Amino acid sequence: MAFRCCYASMGQHKNVCILCNFIAEYSHIESLDDTVGALCFCGGNMKVLIRKECLHYWQKENKKISNFQLYFQIWFRQVLLKKFEIPYLEMFITTKCNLHCKHCSNLIPTLNNRQNYEISTLIEWLDELLSKIDCLYRLKIHGGEVFLHPRLAEFVAYVKNQPKIKSIRLTTNGTITPADNMLQLIARSKIVVQISDYRLPNITTQQLIDKFKKFGVRYIYLKDQTWKDFGGITLRDGNRFDDCNMKRCSSFYESKIYVCSRAAMMTKSGYIPDDGISVYLPKKQLRQQLKKMYGGKLSIACNYCDGDTKYAKDISAGEQE
Ligand code: SF4
Repeated sequence: MAFRCCYASMGQHKNVCILCNFIAEYSHIESLDDTVGALCFCGGNMKVLIRKECLHYWQKENKKISNFQLYFQIWFRQVLLKKFEIPYLEMFITTKCNLHCKHCSNLIPTLNNRQNYEISTLIEWLDELLSKIDCLYRLKIHGGEVFLHPRLAEFVAYVKNQPKIKSIRLTTNGTITPADNMLQLIARSKIVVQISDYRLPNITTQQLIDKFKKFGVRYIYLKDQTWKDFGGITLRDGNRFDDCNMKRCSSFYESKIYVCSRAAMMTKSGYIPDDGISVYLPKKQLRQQLKKMYGGKLSIACNYCDGDTKYAKDISAGEQE
């Protein structure tokens, strides 16, 4: 779907150094390994930007602790203890959806053979990844419409008990009210449900919200969203990665990690060569590949997409075909 996956965008702070807020260009950085001297005197480089991205999610879970303390915690883990931490992943558990959004950024309506993934398979993929990283600050359980998955509860029970996953979002289009046992499982956990408001007629979102209140489910209601038209899948005059706000929405799809969900689906449908990162790579190689991805080196899809950039025009959210 063409929503922005998060509240802030990497694009908004891509040129801002976290330590001194100097505006600086870093587009010449080729990977996270090219870390020296690319920015201002405080050394704000791609690694710092990734730390800032981690901080963005860590702050949301620790609102009473100062940003300085939180940043220090992250810095301590990543720099002194050499922990390999990643800020965000959205994981597809289903490609089934009960809506048919005209400008779905995930290209879900175009997919053949849409499916609910086996929970045991999803857990195996996630286990494999978690065994090779030290922390994931935000996991988004993603679809399709996740409440269509008949065994969602099993996946939720698993992820909410993973200590390496610091926070969890579960996205829904607000059209389905889950069963009480599902709500009990989500309630008072580290899971927050993110409801999109598509302003569709006859949609029972208010009923869903009432249930969430009754069960103590934490939720965010995303009203008045504007989407971007990412355009058709044709070769552009340049790669949009640097400008695109969606590049911070890395996607976990069928055991591979992609720069974003659209990239995953473009690959799945055979439009572009597969530059996804398999979680079955050896740990060192997986980490190197992730660094490359964050540096824009695995972004074939961004040659065929306008993304959330100045090239894409604003459109209304959730318009149906
Ligand atoms: S420009 Fe790249 S990162 Fe942005 S939405 Fe398109 S494929 Fe994804």
